Amino acid sequence: MEVIFLGTGTSQGVPMIACDCAVCTSADPRNHRTRSCIHVVMDGLHVQVDAAPEFRLQCLRERITRLDFFILTHGHADHIVGMDDLRRFCDLRGGTALTVYTTEEGMARILSIFPYTIAERPVAKGYAAFKLTAMPQVLELPQGTIRSTLLPHGGINTLGLVFEEKSSGKKFVYYNDCKRVPREAVALAEGADAVVLDGLRPELHPTHLNIEEACAVAAEIKGKVTYLTHLTHSVDHEQWSAKLAAQGVQLAYDGLRLKL
Ligand SMILES: [Zn+2]
Ligand SMILES: [Zn+2]
Ligand SMILES: [Zn+2]
Repeated sequence: MEVIFLGTGTSQGVPMIACDCAVCTSADPRNHRTRSCIHVVMDGLHVQVDAAPEFRLQCLRERITRLDFFILTHGHADHIVGMDDLRRFCDLRGGTALTVYTTEEGMARILSIFPYTIAERPVAKGYAAFKLTAMPQVLELPQGTIRSTLLPHGGINTLGLVFEEKSSGKKFVYYNDCKRVPREAVALAEGADAVVLDGLRPELHPTHLNIEEACAVAAEIKGKVTYLTHLTHSVDHEQWSAKLAAQGVQLAYDGLRLKL
């Protein structure tokens, strides 16, 4: 299994517009964060999770050339607005609709932002077409299993995802954009080879885990390795990597590839 971090930034991105703080002006490329989304390859199956505003640029940078289906974790702008660029992958599939798994909230957002995409085939050549499907708790595939669970994120729930590859038995957990990780989600993540958690920033936030809260969740889950994502400009990569090393927690960065 391979996990490609296309983006690891919070909703404003880093650098943030009109900010000259030390992180926003840093020369360290790991402090340049496009909005969060990942690409998972499970035994040759290509699954895209979320589409950030920079999705097209992220695909070019990481040479993403194939996508079998799409999962939208929730309908917030930083995860959904890149979805129009899925049009190229519809084209590459011979102009057929791409299956999109999400929640009811996610579907409602897609319908309001991209009403022209809800069709069996693109309305015109080169347009996107989506087949909206409720994300099941267990999605059984020839290449493995994707389990989902709901994570509280302010007034809505985010899909937490657990990938398990059949051939290798490797387990990967992606819990982004959440304020809490409920007990059942901790149990679902048990024995993970890699865990990715919302870490946001050092200060508390009403709808996101901060770094301290994320480290507490990491200690509960006890994955072999834990990465924090969805980071703001309050987090200098080098400084925080050194602080978190003792807890076995690392910071994700754009372009990071995990081979499990
Ligand atoms: Zn977000
Ligand atoms: Zn800044
Ligand atoms: Zn969000």
